[in-house]
Amino acid sequence: MRTFVYILFFMLMSSVTMRAQDIYKKFFSDNAVVAHRGAWKAKGIPQNSIESLREAMRLGCAGSEFDVHMTADSVFVLCHDNNFFGKVIEKHTYSELAATKLPNGETVPTLEQALMEGMKQTDTRLFLEIKSSSTVERTVRSTEKIVEKVNELGAQPWVFYIAFDYNAVKRVKQLVPSAAVAYLNGDISPEQLQKDNITGLDYHYNVFKNDTSLITNSKNLGLSLNVWTVNKSEDMDFFTSQDFEYITTDEPELLLSKKK
Ligand code: MG
Repeated sequence: MRTFVYILFFMLMSSVTMRAQDIYKKFFSDNAVVAHRGAWKAKGIPQNSIESLREAMRLGCAGSEFDVHMTADSVFVLCHDNNFFGKVIEKHTYSELAATKLPNGETVPTLEQALMEGMKQTDTRLFLEIKSSSTVERTVRSTEKIVEKVNELGAQPWVFYIAFDYNAVKRVKQLVPSAAVAYLNGDISPEQLQKDNITGLDYHYNVFKNDTSLITNSKNLGLSLNVWTVNKSEDMDFFTSQDFEYITTDEPELLLSKKK
C-alpha cells in the first residue's frame, strides 16, 4: 500500500506538464466495467450497499458506482432515490434513517464507510455520484463537504466523481484541479467540457448512439468516455468497439465475461 501511495505521488508530481486528464486510471483493473450501484443484480444484494461494493471488488470490476446524498445533519449516505424507505434524506438526520435497515441487515451506508472499504484494495475505483439536492446552493455545499471528506480520508486516488449538476462538476475541479470528474447529463459539448477542464463525459447510451461524432470529438480532445447504463449484450459490444474507457452496467458479470 505504501509503495502504491509513493507511485501515485510520483505520478502526480510528474504529471504537471502531462496532458493526461486522469493520472490514476492505470493503477486499477484493466477492464472497462463499472458496476452501477455496486454489483447487486445477480445475487440479489441491495443496491448501494457495502455488500454490493464488495461484490464489485470481488469480481475485479475497474469501478463501482454509488450515489451520495447529504442528510439534514450533514452526513453522507449511499442511496439512489432522494428518500430512504420513504424518508426524504435531506429532511432527516442520519440516526432517523439508520432506524430502517437494508434488506441484507446493513444500516444505511455512509460515504466514509464506502471510501474506507474501497481503500482496502487497488483494483476497483470508486465512482462517486454527487446527487443533486433540492436547491443548487445545497448541491454545491454538499459537493464541497464530499470533497472535504474524500481529502480528509486520503481517498482521492480512488475516486472518480460524477454528477448531473454541472455546478457540482465544476466545483469539484475548482477545489481539486487534479480530481477526475465527469458530467452525466448529456447536454454539454465535448469542446465546452474541455474548456472547463472537466475530465470527461459519462452520458446515457442513447446520447452517444444518436450522435456518434460526440465519441470522435471527445477522443480528439483527450476526454474520458464513460456511458450509462449499458445492460444489453449488443450495446456492450458497440461501446467496447468504440473503445470506451468505462462502461457502466447493472450486468458486470456479463460485461466482464466478454473481456478478451
Ligand atoms: Mg448513480
